[in-house]
Amino acid sequence: MLKDNLMSVQDNIKQAAMRSGRELSDITLIAVSKTKPVEMIKEIYDLGVRDFGENKVQELVAKYDQLPGDIKWHLIGHLQTNKVKYIVDKVYMIHSVDSLKLAREISREAVKRGITVNILIEVNVAGEESKYGISPDELEETVRQVAELPGIIIRGLMTVAPYVVDSEENRPIFVKMKQFVVDIIQKNIDNVCMDCLSMGMSGDYTVAVEEGATYIRVGTSIFGERNYK
Ligand SMILES: *Cc1c(COP(=O)(O)O)cnc(C)c1O
Repeated sequence: MLKDNLMSVQDNIKQAAMRSGRELSDITLIAVSKTKPVEMIKEIYDLGVRDFGENKVQELVAKYDQLPGDIKWHLIGHLQTNKVKYIVDKVYMIHSVDSLKLAREISREAVKRGITVNILIEVNVAGEESKYGISPDELEETVRQVAELPGIIIRGLMTVAPYVVDSEENRPIFVKMKQFVVDIIQKNIDNVCMDCLSMGMSGDYTVAVEEGATYIRVGTSIFGERNYK
């Protein structure tokens, strides 16, 4: 059953890429495995997926220890500064950098270990009260400040779009995100790469692909509904 889910998501991505004239190789599916057991992750891993997303530090660390070492772990949820030290050397990318303070802490821990950490700056495009992320007004300044920190490289932007029934409602948000990327590239800021744009979830990933997502984060459509006890 997981296999059918995965194949259908992969097929939808392919169709969306074709519609918008994009290369499939520019789009990476992150299987969001939060709350799901390692057996299910292993099943998806065995089907060839290597990018997995978790939103909690403790859960990521526990799964990291039980699963193959070639998995690229993406931290996609809000990260508290006091937990950075537990994951900085385990994650392939931190998508949810939502403050200068957090970026400073990641930088400090990275330098301590002599590593470079890939990060994305999380943008709260829709200005939702309930969401983390930098407001569009402060984005350029934040990128400039974070870019100066050692031990981290800004690879791009990430957003968690509003929950909508009709995915078309989020298209303007994805268009804006792509524009932010283009704008920042034009500023030519040192240490800023902007080759990654993380947006789109189960409800709207095909629209996100059409508008330029390089990472889509899909949980429910692969693993089924989550059961938060
Ligand atoms: C849970 C989560 C997802 C996946 O959501 P689905 O709707 O289950 O696909 C994507 N991004 C973030 C940041 C999440 O927390």
